[in-house]
Amino acid sequence: MAFDPRDVYDAAALYDMWLNCHSCTNTFDFEPNRPIGLDYYHDIGQRAKRDGWLVAEQQNDGADDAYMVLCPDCVSRYGLEVRHEMNIRIPPAIEEICRAMQIAEKERTAA
Ligand SMILES: [Zn+2]
Repeated sequence: MAFDPRDVYDAAALYDMWLNCHSCTNTFDFEPNRPIGLDYYHDIGQRAKRDGWLVAEQQNDGADDAYMVLCPDCVSRYGLEVRHEMNIRIPPAIEEICRAMQIAEKERTAA
């Protein structure tokens, strides 16, 4: 499995660089020593999904945060249900970052 821009977890990890809970100070434990790339964001996103983080795309346009992120503690505190929905369309911002990443990765391996 590789990075999937339609998976909100992958997309949010890419967009936010890492995942911070919007409701408390919890930060998803990422691996700062690994090389940054689409694989890296995919791993973060999928690990957050497994660990019970809630990531949802914000519906209102013009919001500062493109994604709603809540840690497992807050999910259970608010009694929320984590659903893993796939986007039908790839958000344009994600597609753009994705493309830039792929170009950067290609340049890195070519050098
Ligand atoms: Zn939290």
